[in-house]
Amino acid sequence: MEKVIIIRYAEIHLKGKNRGYFERVFAVNLERALKGIRHELHRTSGRYLIAAFDEGRTEEILSKIARVFGVHSYSLGYLTGGELDEIYDACLLVAPRRGTFKVESHRAYKNYPLTSMQISAEIGARLLQAFPLKVDVHSPEHTVYVDVRTAHEALVFCSFEPGPGGMPVDTSGKGLLLLSGGIDSPVAGYMMAKRGMSVELLHFHSYPYTNDGAKEKVKELAALLAAYSISPVLTTINVAHIQEAIHSKCAPELNVTLLRRFMVRLAERVAKRKGAQCLITGESLGQVASQTIEGITSSNAVATLPILRPLIGFDKDEIILHAKKMGTFDISIQPFEDCCTVFLPDFPAIKPKLSFVEEEEGKLDVEALLQEAMESEETFTL
Ligand code: ATP
Ligand code: MG
Repeated sequence: MEKVIIIRYAEIHLKGKNRGYFERVFAVNLERALKGIRHELHRTSGRYLIAAFDEGRTEEILSKIARVFGVHSYSLGYLTGGELDEIYDACLLVAPRRGTFKVESHRAYKNYPLTSMQISAEIGARLLQAFPLKVDVHSPEHTVYVDVRTAHEALVFCSFEPGPGGMPVDTSGKGLLLLSGGIDSPVAGYMMAKRGMSVELLHFHSYPYTNDGAKEKVKELAALLAAYSISPVLTTINVAHIQEAIHSKCAPELNVTLLRRFMVRLAERVAKRKGAQCLITGESLGQVASQTIEGITSSNAVATLPILRPLIGFDKDEIILHAKKMGTFDISIQPFEDCCTVFLPDFPAIKPKLSFVEEEEGKLDVEALLQEAMESEETFTL
């Protein structure tokens, strides 16, 4: 008998012929999450098992597994041989000492000499003799699970913890997340990583209009996102001179709209170099002036890569709930100025017409501004 953490995976089983590939990437991600912690990772039929792990760090291991996309659920339990006596010995270790309970058995190995019902009845009867327990098959306080995997292997455990679901990161291409210091963009990155996308990070600042506090905040967000297999490498670009140029030459109501188009162009340059196939933003329809369909049209007009906006249909409240669950909310609400707020006009255009946007942008030397911005590029590994 061996103490193990049982990991069940989510959508991977749906992927037919690609299953082997998905499982390999999933295993790599689990290994990466547990790097530096003693453990062995094994695959049994349809499950991953973590064995021979540092038991003093069990909680830490479980919290890391809880953030690996593709994990459907996980349990702390035992791997035993197939004999009923061995299974019972493990049940003795996980079973409650009092209260109501039931035993729920499952056989992946259908030639096992006992049926699931017989296993449950036999183990249940023995546990009733061992402890002052009561059986309640309808709404027990505790459930002891017995899962017979093969002729020689069974899993015994007492709880199911839900995993984050989704698909293993690195199975759905690569995207570049435009990470501001706000609430939304970290959530957008999380959502794409959850769908298996490998996510890289880009932040625009407006030094000296924005300060180091703003940058530190974004680094803090990036470090937290890394726990969800998002890239720990953050690229930053200074756009202060672009904001100054827009401010001095163009219609003030287009400040944000025009800056967005520069952000898209700069992001594409970084994305192409990093091999990213799309951009990701935290935009949500109607949330602010630049996030109208007209604003989106104006940004898309300068894009050659797809721009994914996973939060487009979400209310702010829904996004906040997500951010709280991920742990980014408290960092995001620290009051540091984002570059977008620096030159915020009193009345930003809500429905900017593309022809007007292009006309105003025509007053700028776009390419020179882009090149100057690219020269400010910095990279941080969190
Ligand atoms: P967030 O909470 O993500 O900052 P927001 O509601 O403040 O979003 P905007 O400031 O309009 O909305 O930004 C919309 C999106 O544009 C952001 O979600 C982000 O993807 C991108 N973006 C905005 N500012 C920056 C920035 N300084 N650096 C990188 N990306 C940015
Ligand atoms: Mg913002």
